[in-house]
Amino acid sequence: MVGDVPVGGGAPVTVQSMTVTKTADHEATLSQIYALAAAGADIVRCTCNESAAAEGLARIVPRSPVPIVADIHHQHLRALEALEAGVHCLRLNPGNIRNPKHIKLVASEALDRRVPIRIGVNGGSLHPELYAKHGGKVTPEAMVESALQEIAYFEDVGFDLIKISVKASSVPLMIEAYRQLAEVTDYPLHLGVTEAGPPPIGTLKATAGMATLLAEGIGDTIRYSLTTDPVEEVKAGRQLLEVMGLRERKNVDLIACPSCGRAEVDVFAIADEAMRAFGEREIPLQVAVMGCVVNGPGEARDADLGIAAGNKRGHLFVKGQNVMVVAEDEMVDTLIEWAEYIHANGAQAALDRASSTRAAARRAAEQDRKRNLNELGDDANNAEAAISNIRMVPKPTRGQSDAK
Ligand code: SF4
Repeated sequence: MVGDVPVGGGAPVTVQSMTVTKTADHEATLSQIYALAAAGADIVRCTCNESAAAEGLARIVPRSPVPIVADIHHQHLRALEALEAGVHCLRLNPGNIRNPKHIKLVASEALDRRVPIRIGVNGGSLHPELYAKHGGKVTPEAMVESALQEIAYFEDVGFDLIKISVKASSVPLMIEAYRQLAEVTDYPLHLGVTEAGPPPIGTLKATAGMATLLAEGIGDTIRYSLTTDPVEEVKAGRQLLEVMGLRERKNVDLIACPSCGRAEVDVFAIADEAMRAFGEREIPLQVAVMGCVVNGPGEARDADLGIAAGNKRGHLFVKGQNVMVVAEDEMVDTLIEWAEYIHANGAQAALDRASSTRAAARRAAEQDRKRNLNELGDDANNAEAAISNIRMVPKPTRGQSDAK
């Protein structure tokens, strides 16, 4: 338990982030913690790099809406101060606090208070001895060894309220380190790609690493380490867990076709506009934006709600059934209005609501579908022309292989 939030043992995977304010400035830090909690953070970490930060934590912890983890850098005394401040968890970096006596002292104090500790191994600050032992390189084996050494110090004093992370900025390295760690320990794991960088590449790196592990059943809590507003880290974390089916959906899941030669509208622009319009609205539905009525409603039939473009108008469908036709410039507003209605009343109520317009909507969709097929034919993407060109490329004669 980190405060009242369970981590590991089959509990839902949690989202963490870290404040970027001076912890000593407790009002600024609290206001950021509130923003992170509102975005969906389950746990927030604050740096405790000086005594003034520990004093800030003493003011922050009683007012925080989520459990607080104190990030301890080089000074074990800051860990003792953070415990006095009442934090719900500590994070220690074994590469930075190296004296076993200090480590055991902190663990004993934490044990008395039943406060868990995250062993936060970081590829960039590995213990110099381990670095040398593993050939002057940061390897998965070296990172796991660092974590195991720290666990041994903790277990020496009977401390087992442990979480572990083995973060690296290299995605393949962190994946392998976590895989090896999961083989040798049952303690809960905190996942992250450290110093992933600014979005979008930072988000992509962190997602590649964490999603791979989560799909293998590895990981109990996650943090995106992005060079941006930490609220974005939380949103990314929530979204990752939602798309992987590990947490209940909170906001809309907007799906959209990639557009093609058959599209009757600028799908990219409409999808962007819809994304912005749904924003932070808590409507946990799947909503589709499709570029044409020929394939759109069929391909998005599993969505709760969708709209497909056709001849300067939008064909709205609920669970694959056409319900009404709207002007092209009303497509997004209509989606929002119907999404709110379905969220409040259910899909069947929405279909009933459209009982008087459904037949006409179906006919209009069929009309636009035929029109699109007549104008663009069955082959709107000119696949047949490409296929005919492929057939004109000389083929190897018998006995010749592609390798030649
Ligand atoms: S066929 Fe229609 S729905 Fe499919 S990608 Fe093209 S425009 Fe989008």
